[in-house]
Amino acid sequence: MSGPRPVRAARGTELSALGWQQEAALRMLQNNLDPEVAEHPDKLVVYGGTGKAARDWRSFDAMVRTLRTLKQDETMLVQSGRPVGVMQTHEWAPRVLLANSNLVGDWANWEEFRRLEHLGLTMYGQMTAGSWIYIGTQGILQGTYETFAAVAAKKFNGTLAGTITLTAGLGGMGGAQPLAVTMNDGVAICVDVDPRAIERRIEHRYLDVRADNLAHALQLATEARDARRPLSIGLLGNAAELLPQMLAEGAPIDIVTDQTSAHDPLAYLPVGVAFEDMADAAAKDPAGFTTRARESMAKHVEAMVGFMDAGAEVFDYGNSIRGEAQLAGYERAFAFPGFVPAYIRPLFCEGKGPFRWAALSGEASDIHKTDKALLELFPENESLHRWIKMAGERVHFQGLPARICWLGQGERDKAGDMFNDMVGNGTLAAPLAIGRDHLDCGSVASPYRETEAMLDGSDAIADWPLLNAMVNVASGASWVSIHHGGGVGMGRSIHAGQVSVADGTELAGEKIRRVLTNDPGMGVIRHVDAGYDIAERVADEKGVRVPMREG
Ligand code: NAD
Repeated sequence: MSGPRPVRAARGTELSALGWQQEAALRMLQNNLDPEVAEHPDKLVVYGGTGKAARDWRSFDAMVRTLRTLKQDETMLVQSGRPVGVMQTHEWAPRVLLANSNLVGDWANWEEFRRLEHLGLTMYGQMTAGSWIYIGTQGILQGTYETFAAVAAKKFNGTLAGTITLTAGLGGMGGAQPLAVTMNDGVAICVDVDPRAIERRIEHRYLDVRADNLAHALQLATEARDARRPLSIGLLGNAAELLPQMLAEGAPIDIVTDQTSAHDPLAYLPVGVAFEDMADAAAKDPAGFTTRARESMAKHVEAMVGFMDAGAEVFDYGNSIRGEAQLAGYERAFAFPGFVPAYIRPLFCEGKGPFRWAALSGEASDIHKTDKALLELFPENESLHRWIKMAGERVHFQGLPARICWLGQGERDKAGDMFNDMVGNGTLAAPLAIGRDHLDCGSVASPYRETEAMLDGSDAIADWPLLNAMVNVASGASWVSIHHGGGVGMGRSIHAGQVSVADGTELAGEKIRRVLTNDPGMGVIRHVDAGYDIAERVADEKGVRVPMREG
């Protein structure tokens, strides 16, 4: 078989590979393409514009076949979604090593990438698409929830009740926005050009209602705002048209951001192109489409700046829309900040980031048991308690049941160790895959996002993600990846990921303790090196060694 077909990971304890480490990689690859999880599974696209899990169906089949026969001392090498070799290594080595979408500096642009992609030589790996640890929209939900909580703390007395947030993009990641806003008791108007995206978010209970038109959306929003009632509203239309119109009409918006797929101009719909014609128009004339998309993004960003001038809290949500608008000649594109320097960096200094785990058993009860155990492990952590409780009540699982929660240095290793014990002593029905987003504290170089406005100006230094990947390989992760582009597009970021499988064995425990100490430890040392006080304090408290501070 080498064409599109529905893919679903096996559940339960029966192995089709030679061990749990390989079985986990296999199930997580398949889970990324589960129609419940992936945005466009027929095209192998998981999320984030064209973020893929495998280069083509033949490569997918070859990876499945290879993972099923891979031995405990072998490693499969994946080059941009295609398995290119199996090498003899050893049992502490990762079972899979992946490098996705990497291009040499001067060639690292969309034009060259598309040329190579067209020749079948590469694929876009996004962050967790090509590294097989995407868990659906929940994966971004807690980060989005915490970001809006930080906005509330900064500007609205700790709650979004009585405020209206305006955003666009209800895709795989952007779809978390409405629920994150209502979890903070606010009202959200979310614009998307794709009616399916709106329906899907309503179906998964991330979005409450769909408005008939702009006037209806504003009426629903102001009524809910005045009653201080949380509500999220989907609005069909093009953000580059609707935002300027809303600004001109003086719509009462308090917060503005955006999560359209602006990082990839071929995935952002320009004004004047019908949604149904988007794929054809982009394929026929990519250069012309890119120019039009960037012009529309300039209008979109200009309206965001207009809302900022009118007093709204405005931030870029990590999709490079400011960079694209600037390329179209809009001069004030960077008038508002990115979300990392505005709200997230102090968490990165503590080694905190989007830690996550998936239950390979397929049983929701495994996740509920880990939720409970985690709350007992960290009884003092109030925000963790609030999040886990809310997630338990409101998060719809997509594919294999999974959980995300931001944990930091000194926490992730404890959690991982406990999870491995829970597998070992039979509390859980099967092993867990423990990983994280690439969007983490010490695993990314991305001057428009994770490393925007670093204290020492080291935004574009890309040694850190490479060191991160190497230390995870050296520490015993089950699979490790290095990608380029991710959420901000070609030429703009390099980032690394790791997944470690808790199969209940002593060996897995040894590996997990090292990986889950060293991986967040990269975030601590990266921020110590850049001169952040919080990171220095955490390094002292948690015993993270930094040679330049010794002696
Ligand atoms: P996606 O491709 O699944 O969804 C994008 C959505 O934008 C689609 O539903 C599409 O219909 C809509 N869209 C495109 N052009 C539009 C327009 N002109 N007006 C209104 N809607 C339009 O992408 P995703 O996974 O949701 O990611 C969204 C963006 O956020 C990407 O650029 C991604 O790289 C970035 N991202 C940010 C973070 C973060 O932490 N903030 C994390 C991951 C990804």
